[in-house]
Amino acid sequence: MKQPTDNVNPAEIEKFSSMASHWWEPEGDFKTLHQINPLRLQLIDKTIGLKGKKILDVGCGGGILSESMAAKGAIVTGIDLGKELIDVAELHSLDTGVNVDYQTISVEQLASQQAASFDSVTCMEMLEHVPDPIAIIEACATLVKPGGYVFLSTLNRNPKSYLLSIIGAEYVLGMLPKGTHDYASFIKPSELAAWCRQTDLNLVDSRGIEYNPLSKSFSMSQDISVNYICVFQKNSEQQ
Ligand code: SAH
Repeated sequence: MKQPTDNVNPAEIEKFSSMASHWWEPEGDFKTLHQINPLRLQLIDKTIGLKGKKILDVGCGGGILSESMAAKGAIVTGIDLGKELIDVAELHSLDTGVNVDYQTISVEQLASQQAASFDSVTCMEMLEHVPDPIAIIEACATLVKPGGYVFLSTLNRNPKSYLLSIIGAEYVLGMLPKGTHDYASFIKPSELAAWCRQTDLNLVDSRGIEYNPLSKSFSMSQDISVNYICVFQKNSEQQ
């Protein structure tokens, strides 16, 4: 029988875990996550109003997004299958005094225990690292309350995205460690939306996260051809 933890690529977890101690270095291996975090945080806060909301952050890594949402007053649970990553996240939150409930548990397992118990679920830059992204999306849809929001970000699959996010970011500009991404696992927005329609999640917004190599900075845009975030709302109970 398929177990909830089957949907994981151990090499991916190992790859991220081996860099765990550098997670919070602003100029380190995860510099890009630090740079894009204010943008995604603002989108989430503007969409749902984080203060007092119960949020689940799936594939939280060392906790960059989890902690920033908690600092805005949300009640955050962060989950990841990298034990070292959860340790790093926990230690950092002890340093900063920002309270986050971190757990090493799969999203499928949590979905079997706590259906419809979060106001919102975030799953950022993770779907392109798992064998079966649809199962992750189904679990996110199960965990969010009716009418609640799910935020998913990933990388689009097209020649431009290959050129910018692998050749450019990993090999030319050195923004990401080499081997961070596998092009075949990238996800087109149309695929993501179709998978979500199979659950009861409806697409309400999508934004691109665009990099400007001249100013070396990111901004939100309408261009979803490379890195993008989609916002989904779960059907409310009346529907
Ligand atoms: N979401 C975070 C980290 C992205 S890096 C952020 O955007 O800031 C990708 C993360 O996904 C890593 O921490 C990795 O350990 C995690 N991951 C990969 N496969 C996973 C799985 N099946 N379940 C939970 N986490 C997973």
